[in-house]
Amino acid sequence: MKIVFATNNPNKLKEIQALMPTGIEIVSLKDIGCTEDIPETGKTLEANAFQKANYLKEHYGYDCFADDTGLEVNALNGNPGVYSARYAGPQRSAEDNMAKILDELKGKENRKAQFRTAIALILNGEEYLFEGKVEGQISQAKLGEKGFGYDPIFIPENETRSFAQMSMEEKGAVSHRGKAVRKLVECIGRLVD
Ligand code: IMP
Repeated sequence: MKIVFATNNPNKLKEIQALMPTGIEIVSLKDIGCTEDIPETGKTLEANAFQKANYLKEHYGYDCFADDTGLEVNALNGNPGVYSARYAGPQRSAEDNMAKILDELKGKENRKAQFRTAIALILNGEEYLFEGKVEGQISQAKLGEKGFGYDPIFIPENETRSFAQMSMEEKGAVSHRGKAVRKLVECIGRLVD
């Protein structure tokens, strides 16, 4: 059985394929010849995930899932949230995005934040939604070199290290995406059993 994952990120693809039950093949956008930009104009992570999954189902006809992730900072009223990728501008630079957040939090005591991932699945004509979140703090400065995006400035709860100072396995065990993906895999396993 083939399920399309609305991504061209080889790391995300590999990670998810490794967790899937045998008999489930996960393919990327490139694999199905989808090269256009899929619209992502929702006001919430959930809306964006469903927008992408519905687009794929309508235009290509495959069972599919799509994810959307945001960093929500309490002292910034939940921003950047759904705008996480381009918080500092259309160049989508992780460095610029992190610098903007560190600057906006300068002198602020409340550094609480959370990462949240929404995954929308369309399988056999039914829609499903999975969420994963991890609470933590924004660090005073960048810490570590691993990971991607906002990892160097996010310290998950019960930790002293940022996500960028953890191995991929350590991060995946507690991360927003790790939690959402495990729910997705469990559900697909149950549905195709
Ligand atoms: P996307 O929904 O996975 O494309 O992510 C949206 C934005 O959040 C991008 O700027 C990513 O770099 C950032 N982001 C997503 N997941 C993570 C993560 O696990 N750690 C740090 N940043 C992330």
